Amino acid sequence: MKVERSLPSLDTLAELVQVEYGLHGEITPLSGENENYLVALEDGRRYVLKLITERISSGVLEMEQQIVAHLQAAGVDLDLPRQVPTRSGAEEASYSTRDKNPLRARLFEFVSGMPWIAAGVPGNDQLRHLGEVLAALDIALAAFDHPLARRTHCWDLTQAAQHRSKIDLIQDAERRGVLEWLFQLYAACAVPRLAELPQSIIHGDINDENVIVQDGRVSGLLDFSDTLRNPTVSELAIALVYAILDRPDPLLAGSEIVSGYNSIRPLLESEVAVLFPLICGRLCTSALIAAERRRIDPDHTSWFTTEARAWDLMERLCAIDPVEAGKRLTSKIDVHPFRDSGASEQVLLDKRSRYISPALSIAYRQPHKMIRGEGQYLFDQRGRPFLDLVNNVCHVGHCHPRVVEAGQRQMAQLNTNTRYLYDGLTDYAARLCETLPDSLTTVFMLNSGSEANELALRLAAKHTGARDFLVVEGAYHGHTSNLIALSPYKFSGPGGSGKAESWVHVVPMPDGYRGKHKGGGREAGVAYGDEVEKVIRRADAPIAGFLVEPLMSCGGQIVPPAGYLETAFRYVREAGGVCIADEVQTGFGRAGSHFWAFELQDVLPDIVVMGKPIGNGHPMAAVVTTAEIAASFTSGMEFFSTFGGNPVSCSIGLAVLDIIRDEKLQQRALELGERFQEGLRQIMQKHTLIGDVRGAGLFIGVELVRDGDTLEPAAEEANELVQRLNERGILLSTDGPFHNVIKIKPPMVLTKDDVDMTLRCMDDELTAIA
Ligand code: PMP
Repeated sequence: MKVERSLPSLDTLAELVQVEYGLHGEITPLSGENENYLVALEDGRRYVLKLITERISSGVLEMEQQIVAHLQAAGVDLDLPRQVPTRSGAEEASYSTRDKNPLRARLFEFVSGMPWIAAGVPGNDQLRHLGEVLAALDIALAAFDHPLARRTHCWDLTQAAQHRSKIDLIQDAERRGVLEWLFQLYAACAVPRLAELPQSIIHGDINDENVIVQDGRVSGLLDFSDTLRNPTVSELAIALVYAILDRPDPLLAGSEIVSGYNSIRPLLESEVAVLFPLICGRLCTSALIAAERRRIDPDHTSWFTTEARAWDLMERLCAIDPVEAGKRLTSKIDVHPFRDSGASEQVLLDKRSRYISPALSIAYRQPHKMIRGEGQYLFDQRGRPFLDLVNNVCHVGHCHPRVVEAGQRQMAQLNTNTRYLYDGLTDYAARLCETLPDSLTTVFMLNSGSEANELALRLAAKHTGARDFLVVEGAYHGHTSNLIALSPYKFSGPGGSGKAESWVHVVPMPDGYRGKHKGGGREAGVAYGDEVEKVIRRADAPIAGFLVEPLMSCGGQIVPPAGYLETAFRYVREAGGVCIADEVQTGFGRAGSHFWAFELQDVLPDIVVMGKPIGNGHPMAAVVTTAEIAASFTSGMEFFSTFGGNPVSCSIGLAVLDIIRDEKLQQRALELGERFQEGLRQIMQKHTLIGDVRGAGLFIGVELVRDGDTLEPAAEEANELVQRLNERGILLSTDGPFHNVIKIKPPMVLTKDDVDMTLRCMDDELTAIA
C-alpha cells in the first residue's frame, strides 16, 4: 500500500523561509528520516529547515534546544544545530500555505562537515574518537534533566520489544528466525538489567547520518529529536550499530569505539554486559520499523538507508555467540563481565560417562551446559538464552531473587529439624492449608515428590487397612520401588517388564482424544469414571486408594473430561478407599482458573501430594490430609524426615507462596494459557500434524499425529520439532505413551511476547518439517 504524502512544494518552502525568516535561498531536500531541507543563500550561508510533520509538542522541541544550549555551555567540543528564531523572534514558524495548509517549521544553522555515512571508511583513530566524543556528550548530558525526557517513542531502546509482533511482516522464514533470535537475546540479556543501570538523557540516535565528520575527526552532531531518558549505555549501543554497519569485522571496529568511550566515561561491568544485547535490540527495531514503513511508502528511500545493511549485520551477528561477541567488543578495555565458564560440553560428557549412570539420559541432540537461570530463561556457557517452556519446578522463575534471599537468610540463621520449635514449620503449614479446602488440615513435610507419594500410600493403607491401589494408565508417580510398581509410564514404557504387582490395578487413561470414550464432555468423563468402577469390581482385594493426577502429565498432558474424578472418587470411596491427588506437577496455580488442579474437577481429595514447584527448585515436598486420616496414622510409630520441613525449606516455601500471590501468577497462568492455546489452535488450522491442543492454564499439551483419522502418533516429528525449537532457543520436550505430545509447562513468569514468539517459531518449524 502506497500512501501519497502531501508535502509542500519547494517553492512553498522558499516562500516560508522568505516570509518567516527574511532569507532568500534555494531549497533542496536532505536525506534522512525527517523532513529536512537545505536552505542555501547566495552569499554562501547555509541553513537547515526542519518541517515538523508529526504531532510533536513544542515542549519537546524546546527541550531539544535547551539540551543544545546546555551542551554548548558545558563546552562540549561539537558543532551542534543551533536554532534560528523567526523574524518575529518565535522559536517556530507557523505558516499557512496558499491552499491554507498550516506548516510548522524550524530553522537551524547548518553544521558543516560530512555525515559519517559519506565520509569514507573510518580508521581506528576516528572510531576511537567517536567513542570519546560520545562519552563526553553523555557526561555533559548527565548533568541535564527535563521532565519531558521521561517519554518513550518507537525508537526507545528500552521498549524495543514493542516491535516483536511485527516479525510477521517479514516474508522470509530465515530472516524471521534471525529477528526472533536477536530479539530473545535482547529480551533475556538486556531487558531485565536495564532498570539497574545508570540513567540519563541521551541523544538517542547517533546514526551515521547524524554524526558529522571533518578532517577525519567527529566534529558535529545533528538531530536531537529522539532525545529521551534511558540507560546511558543505550547511547553507545545505538552509535555502535550504525558505526559498524558495512565493516568487514564489525565487532573489532566496535571495540575501538568502546575503548574510546571507556577512556572518557569508564563503563561499568553491568553496562558492558548489555552492550551486545542492546545492539541486537536496536537492529531489530530498525529492521522492523523499516518493514512497517515499506507498507506505507516503499518509495520513500530515505526511510530505508539502513535496512539492507542492518540485515547484513544481523545475519552476521546471529552466527556469533553472545559471550564471544561481548568479549570481542570489550577486547580493548579492562572491563570483563564475561567469565570463563569452565569445562566444555564434550569434557563434561566424557566425565559423565565415567561417573554418572547412563540410565540418566541427557536432553536434546545438542546437549547444553547451562550456567545460569533467570526468570523464564536458562543461559548456556556461550551466553545463549533459552526460553524454558518445560520446567515446572522453577515455578516463579529461575533463581527468583526473593526465593534466593529467603533461603540464604534462613541458611545463615538456623537450619535444624522438625523436632525443635521454630516459626517456619507452622507458619508454612498454616499458609499451605489456607490454599486448600477446609477439610485438609494436617501437613507432612518431605523432600521429593516420590517421598511424598510414598507417605500418601502409607497414610491410605494405614487408614483403610487395605494394600491395593488404583492408578491411571500412563501415569508416573515417582522413582521408589513402590512407585515404579505404581507407574505404568515406567513399567509399561522402555525397559519396563509390565505390571508386576497384584496390588496394583490400572484404570484407563481418561483421554477424550485418543482413548475409548471420545470428547471432552461430561458423558466421556462419567464413562471413564465408570471404568474405574469396573476395575474395582475385578480386583480381588479391598482398595486402599486411588492415586491420580488431576491433569495427567507424563501420560500425555491430558485434561480429563468433566465428571471424571467426581465419578471415580465416588466408586473409590464406596469401595472403602481414599482419594489421593498427586499435584506434584499441577499445583500452585499452574491450572490458572484454580490454585489446585483437582478443583477443576470440583472434587475434594482425602490426601493431596505436592512437590516440584513448592520450593521453586529447592528439594521440598508435602502431603496434606484430613485430621481423620492423620489420626489413623498416629499409632505409636513415629514419623520423621531428617530434612523434611527444615527451616530453610519452610522459608523458601513461604517465599514461593508470597510470590505467587504478589506477582498474581495464577491469573497470569490463566491469561497466558488461554493465549497460548488459542494461538496453538490457530496454527493447528495450517498444520494437519497437530491433532489436538489441550490444557488448563500453563499446563498444555500439543499432540502430533500423522493421520487425523487413525491418530497414528507422530513421535519422530514431535521429536524433530522439539530439537529444531531447541536450536532456536526454546526448550520443550515430548511426553505421553507414544512420545508424540509436546508438553508445555513453563515457569509462570512467562510473558505474552514469549508465547507469541513460540507460536511463530512453531508455525515456521512445522512448515519446515511438513
Ligand atoms: N508425581 C508426579 C506426577 C511426577 O511427575 C513426579 C516427578 N516427575 C513425581 C511424583 C516424583 O517426584 P520426584 O521426582 O520429586 O520424586
